[in-house]
Amino acid sequence: MRIVRKRWRDLQRAWPAGLCPRCGMELYPGDLDWVLGGRRLCGACAAAWLAEEAERLAAGRKGAVE
Ligand SMILES: [Zn+2]
Repeated sequence: MRIVRKRWRDLQRAWPAGLCPRCGMELYPGDLDWVLGGRRLCGACAAAWLAEEAERLAAGRKGAVE
């Protein structure tokens, strides 16, 4: 058996903490990311998520959906 070197350098030793569920971008510990609604989102998606959520909340006031 041979030891196979990792293809990526060890700039980031940590495994990805997860993938952004919206865009699929890898999230690393220490990166700027956001936990919104129980999910970790990258910065770009967090902004989009907030906008959507604000819309949903505004719409929800009429129907009182729970
Ligand atoms: Zn994202």
